[in-house]
Order: sequence, then structure tokens, then C-alpha cells
Amino acid sequence: DCGGHEGPREAREDRRKERRAVRILLVDDDPVSLHLLEATLTKWGYQVLSARDGIEAWNALRRPGSPRMAIIDWMMPGMDGLELCRRVRRERDAEYTYIILLTARTRKEEMIRGLEAGADDYITKPFDPREVKVRVRAAQRIVDLQQELMATQRALREQATRDSLTGLWNRAAIIEMLEAELSRASRKAEPVGVILGDLDRFKRVNDAHGHAAGDTVLREAGGRMREALRRCDHIGRYGGEEFLVVAGGCGAAETLDLAERLRSAVADEPFHFENFFLPVTISLGYAVCCNPKVNAEQLIRRADEALYRAKRAGRNRVESAPVKMVWLET
Ligand code: GH3
Ligand code: MG
Ligand code: MG
Repeated sequence: DCGGHEGPREAREDRRKERRAVRILLVDDDPVSLHLLEATLTKWGYQVLSARDGIEAWNALRRPGSPRMAIIDWMMPGMDGLELCRRVRRERDAEYTYIILLTARTRKEEMIRGLEAGADDYITKPFDPREVKVRVRAAQRIVDLQQELMATQRALREQATRDSLTGLWNRAAIIEMLEAELSRASRKAEPVGVILGDLDRFKRVNDAHGHAAGDTVLREAGGRMREALRRCDHIGRYGGEEFLVVAGGCGAAETLDLAERLRSAVADEPFHFENFFLPVTISLGYAVCCNPKVNAEQLIRRADEALYRAKRAGRNRVESAPVKMVWLET
């Protein structure tokens, strides 16, 4: 069995593939110089996109999925390399583009001017392939680090806004969404429906079947409810076994309808855990806001009062906040 040889070889192949995937935008108005550098980079396994002038390059860099590294000639008619650097750096939200300036200028003042315009590095023309190789490799390290950093940032943002058990929005995030929805709705003079749901007798599920069963039910209930929503609605885990739904643009009738759908999504089919089926129900209270002066906290409180009445009235049901209180509250 020669399995031992496969590991390193596969790893090497993966690395080669990765390197092949690295794309570089090459910008030069001089076709000879462009082709020479293009051939060199291609030979080393880079995937090269080329542009003949600043405008073409600018358009290529603004396209989604554009290369993260660009080698840009300084002297070009129309938009020159410096202007292109400045423009790229002005795009605040865009992913970072590592820029190497290609220049025949060798005076120190000019290097400084180039770097000040936003270039990360420079290569002097006529280029020495060995120098290009190491500079591009250094650039690749920065680009890789940058991508890793962004992936970490995305993961952290995800962690900060998601509930880890159910994958729904967490409490802070769903409240923030309600606030955003309220301010959007008040600009458009639209209503906002808020539904608070609480699983019935949930303590019994834990007591009878254990905490793991409880967790499974929570996850499944969250998933079922999420599927019952429209795309534009939001659902979050508000507390232990409480869920908050924000339905922008929904008036009283639509919010009631939605709450009913959520109730039956939970109650209609028993929940499967290990080898038994658990019947689970949920009680829901809702409030609808048509008044720009009502804030998130007041609205949730109204929904919570309605939820309390749903519990008192026997559970597995939907209750509304007294409509006039919500409409008139200032
Ligand atoms: P009611 O119908 O009045 O809402 O009764 P209930 O038993 O659902 O209400 P109570 O508030 O007394 O109990 C809620 C239970 O939810 C208690 C707690 O152990 C359980 N719970 C809260 N969060 C979690 C969780 O993350 N996992 C599990 N397994 N249980 C949880
Ligand atoms: Mg409960
Ligand atoms: Mg509760």
C-alpha cells in the first residue's frame, strides 16, 4: 500500500492548482511590454487578464470577482497609472486590490509619489523577471492574508448576529431588524407586524426527554417557522423558547394570518426525536404598528401581553394586542 505517497503529492497538486487560480490584471498601453510580462506571468502559472488603458482597467476592476492583484503601468494616455491607483483607493467598500506600479521612473521622489497615490509596490522597467517573481509572490501573501481576514470578519459577524442553536437571528439582531423595519415603515407610512411565540409546556419536554431532546425541538421549531415565512420577514430567537417575528408591511389581517401559519407549522406534525414522536405546540401574540411614534420596545411589550393572554386562554393559539392601544399610543 503506497497510501503514504499520496498525501504530499496531493498537497503539492493542490498548491499548484491554487497558484494557477491566482489572477492578475495587467495594464499597459505598450503591447510589447504587455505581452512580455503576460508571457512571463503565465509561464509561472498565474492567470493574466490584460487591459490596454486606464479606463479599460478601471472597468475590469469594478466588475464583481475581479482580480485582487493588478500590475499597472504608470505612463499611459488618458487615465494614467497614478490616477487609476487613486480611483481604486477611493472605492471604500470594495475588496482590497493590491497594486504594483510599473514604471520607467527611478527617482526616489517619483517612487514616493506613486506609493502616495495608493500603489503598494513598484517594479521598474525594463523589468527583471526575478524581481517580478518575488514581488508578485509577496503581493500574493498580502492578498491571501487579506482574504483570510475578511473571511474571519464574516464569520465573526455571523457569530455576533446568529443564534448558535437554531441558526436564526439572535435577540440583539432581531431587535435591530425590528427597529430598522419600523423606521422604514414610518417613511413609507406602512404597518409593521410583530409576533412573539413561546413554546407550550416546554419545560416538560426537557423534564421528560432530556435537554438534548429540548434542543432538537427548538431547532426544528425554528426551522419550521422560518420556512413558513415570506422571504422579506425576519425571525429570531428572542429568549430560551421564545421566537420573535418581524413582518414589515403586514397589517392586522396579514399578521394574524402569518401567526396562524406559524402556529400550525409547529402543531400540525409531531416532532421526531430518537425513536419517538413528540407533539409540540406554540402560543403566539401579535401587535401591529401603524404609528411612527411607537418604538420597538413598546411593540414587543404589546405582543408579549397578547402572548400572555394566549397562554391563559389555553395555549396553542394566537391572540392579538388590543388594536386601539397600538394605534393611539404616542
Ligand atoms: P409555558 O407554556 O407557560 O410557556 O410553559 P413552559 O414550560 O414552556 O415555560 P417555562 O418558562 O416555565 O419554561 C421554559 C423552559 O424552556 C425552561 C428551560 O429549561 C427551557 N429552555 C430554555 N432555553 C432552552 C434551551 O436552549 N434548550 C433547552 N433544551 N431548553 C431550554
Ligand atoms: Mg414556554
Ligand atoms: Mg418562556
